[in-house]
Amino acid sequence: MRVTIYNEYLHEVEAESVRRVYPDGIHAELRSAVLEHAPGAEVRVATLREPEHGLTQEVVDATDVMLWWGHKAHAEVADAVAERVQRAVLGGMGLVVLHSGHYSKPFTRLMGTHGSLKWREADEKERLWSLQPSHPILAGVPDSFELEQEEMYGERFDVPDPDELLMISWFQGGEVFRSLMTWRRGHGRVVYFRPGHETYPTYRNPHVRRIVANAAAYAAARFRRDESRSPETPALEPVPNPGKEHVLKP
Ligand code: ZN
Repeated sequence: MRVTIYNEYLHEVEAESVRRVYPDGIHAELRSAVLEHAPGAEVRVATLREPEHGLTQEVVDATDVMLWWGHKAHAEVADAVAERVQRAVLGGMGLVVLHSGHYSKPFTRLMGTHGSLKWREADEKERLWSLQPSHPILAGVPDSFELEQEEMYGERFDVPDPDELLMISWFQGGEVFRSLMTWRRGHGRVVYFRPGHETYPTYRNPHVRRIVANAAAYAAARFRRDESRSPETPALEPVPNPGKEHVLKP
């Protein structure tokens, strides 16, 4: 499994409060979570400030599944790179979108919706409920677990109805949220997983780490094919007028 972790990597550089939690960057914690559960995985890291954000065509072509953590600089992601990621998913690459990635360009392009939600930073408790314990992403995960402090995300989350709704979060302040969902887009699988605010050590929680790794394995490409063209095709059996002139579809 070839995994590429995209991390915006600005909060950790700019804010001491975040650097204290993730001294080596959020990507380092995600990387160790993947390797803990999939020791054979080939993991690469890409960050916003690299040329093409580290997501060149060569990198994307050599990626079975991409993890995406971004927050404050979604707009700085080049449209061409966002489109490259979107097309890769349609062609079979997996995409696991984490936390504030709900507003990232690749995710909103693939969903076709705003990705908006309600939020609050109040150090409150989150309790996550597993709805499908038999699903591979929830393998080894208890029926519920708690994060002592997290940012609150509340409904309505503006995404299309998922193919699979796997977890619901409850927050101390009263809100609930669909916190683990999957969608098929073309040949690819998209997973959204909610927790992971940058000022809390969420990616060191063993259940969160397992879900991240399981989601990567679940979404990883099994098949790649570019379906962007609609070719005219000869008939397999005799047809009344094989040479009929017509206007080509654009
Ligand atoms: Zn956040």
